[in-house]
Amino acid sequence: MNLKDYIRDIPDFPQPGILFRDITPLLKSPEAFNYAIEQMSQKCQNLQVDAIVAVESRGFIFGAPLACQMGKPFIPVRKEGKLPGETVSVAYTLEYGSNVMEMHLADVNEGDRVLIVDDVLATGGTLLATTELVEKAGGQVAGIGLLIELEGLGGRNVLGHYDIFSLIQY
Ligand code: AMP
Repeated sequence: MNLKDYIRDIPDFPQPGILFRDITPLLKSPEAFNYAIEQMSQKCQNLQVDAIVAVESRGFIFGAPLACQMGKPFIPVRKEGKLPGETVSVAYTLEYGSNVMEMHLADVNEGDRVLIVDDVLATGGTLLATTELVEKAGGQVAGIGLLIELEGLGGRNVLGHYDIFSLIQY
């Protein structure tokens, strides 16, 4: 199966000059979606993963079924103020302004090997902040798993020392 056939290109969304890679056709196909989760699961077989961390909201779409498939805990990273327990937090800058993400401190055990999952790697800003969060909570980043990697945007350089895999590259 060629997963690229299930990604739709939308020019100039959400703003002029951006070629948006729309994952919704893949989500509409149970075969393609299931295949993507299986491929992710296979790619991280050698990473000795203890838990899966993903960032709301599109990271959840892939992180949660992957955690179920692998029989590992799923740990959500959310925007500020959404998680009820004691959290660790990290502030990071976006193209316009900045953002704060949080994770429950007790969700990661000291030394846990965590796989971080997201839909798209662009500049890597969001994922770099997520690695900080995992490390602040005492975890180790076992790897970063992505559906799509936009190679021209340099995300891999930003996340240079981590083990990264992606199923689709542009
Ligand atoms: P970044 O922090 O720059 O790596 O990107 C943050 C998030 O923006 C990614 O996880 C994607 O959900 C989304 N994103 C950025 N660029 C694109 C794109 N060209 N197509 C689809 N989603 C994108």
